[in-house]
Amino acid sequence: MTEHNTRHKVVVIGGGYAGTLAANRLRMRDDVDIMLVNPRPEFVERIRLHQFVARTGEATIDYGTLLGAGIQLVVDSATCIDTAGRTVRLASGRALDYDYVIYAVGSTAAIPSSVPGAAEHALPIAEFESARRLRARLEELPLDAPITVVGGGLTGIETAAELAEQGRTVTLVCGRSLAPYLSASGRRYVARWLTRHGVAVLEVGMVTEVRPDAVLLADGAVRASALTIWTAGFGVPDLAAASGLRTDALGRLLTDETLTSVDDGRIVAAGDAAAPSGQPLRMSGYAAGPLGAQAADTVLSHIAGTEPAVIDLAFTGACVSLGRRAGIRQVARKDDTPVNVYIGGRMGAAIKEVTCKFVVAKRIRREARKPGSMGWPTGGPRPEQPTTAARAVTAP
Ligand SMILES: Cc1cc2nc3c(=O)[nH]c(=O)nc-3n(C[C@H](O)[C@H](O)[C@H](O)COP(=O)(O)OP(=O)(O)OC[C@H]3O[C@@H](n4cnc5c(N)ncnc54)[C@H](O)[C@@H]3O)c2cc1C
Repeated sequence: MTEHNTRHKVVVIGGGYAGTLAANRLRMRDDVDIMLVNPRPEFVERIRLHQFVARTGEATIDYGTLLGAGIQLVVDSATCIDTAGRTVRLASGRALDYDYVIYAVGSTAAIPSSVPGAAEHALPIAEFESARRLRARLEELPLDAPITVVGGGLTGIETAAELAEQGRTVTLVCGRSLAPYLSASGRRYVARWLTRHGVAVLEVGMVTEVRPDAVLLADGAVRASALTIWTAGFGVPDLAAASGLRTDALGRLLTDETLTSVDDGRIVAAGDAAAPSGQPLRMSGYAAGPLGAQAADTVLSHIAGTEPAVIDLAFTGACVSLGRRAGIRQVARKDDTPVNVYIGGRMGAAIKEVTCKFVVAKRIRREARKPGSMGWPTGGPRPEQPTTAARAVTAP
């Protein structure tokens, strides 16, 4: 692909951590028309949704404060990427022509249909709209109403902790184990904090049915639950598959190590919705920013006719809030496996808060002011036999 004297149209689908960062970084060239498609007129800070639900924080930010000059925000949903016609079709009926697409639709909640009543009576926290319903529902409930949080992963822990600190009566049903991501010592710290704050932690408990006012557990026990919050598992939007593009089993867009779709050289993925070499990185706000930056770099390389770089990102661990006054910073190796070192307590909480602010201020906003400025830790492992894309970029 070589350069032409025309402007280049890039449609970024999804204005989350990856898409917003990518849109800002594309401004490294001034001959790129950037359109960012997102269903809401505001950016959702998903990493604060548990705070939003508990009313200890807000989770939306005006895009006007995040996007660089010239980026056009299109408030709509993409329904199909028509790769033959090179248009992105939108729910409103509009269609956007593109030279390149950055596919950054993120992830969704995933409530299994195999659990009777879950889809009807449990509410997920992973998406803004359901988080808003949860917030409203909580408002109606007395403080001592029993609440069940399903899922012992980091999202479940943060949700249970935030509500427990508010004086709510919370049961955390973990499935198999509490905090499988954390080191043994980190897990013990979290378990102690939850117990001290009155959370009933059912570590090997499994919810097998959700009723309007109760949950049924695998051992036959019925526990009262005025509100059941589902945090176990994430899905992804089915836009890639609906557009005839190959995906991994979950539905993430299958790409090579430059994040370019294996089916179409004009489509580049980033964030939770990307599956480079079929071996996606951990879904996280942490990875979404660097992947968004790398997706933008790949598109800019395609435009310039240069070889795009392969992704290069090291993990450093994770931060988990435990209410507003405690938290845990788990330290991990570059491959994201935890080491037996963590920082807990108030210092852990402070690190988490700084991290949340850093993502918005030092990554997204800085990239808007100074496209190309973002750096990130590198050197994480990638597959020895990476997938290569069947490049299909032929015409300007
Ligand atoms: C409660 C909670 C706490 C979390 N805490 C942390 C944490 O502490 N640290 C961490 O690293 N990660 C955390 N995460 C995970 C993190 O939020 C996600 O991994 C991150 O948001 C992924 O970024 P993204 O840009 O890929 O996708 P998203 O942030 O999900 O953004 C995707 C955007 O695309 C939009 N979209 C979807 N479909 C379409 C379509 N068809 N057309 C147009 N737009 C579309 C979505 O509406 C959304 O705005 C947390 C998640 C939750 C729910």
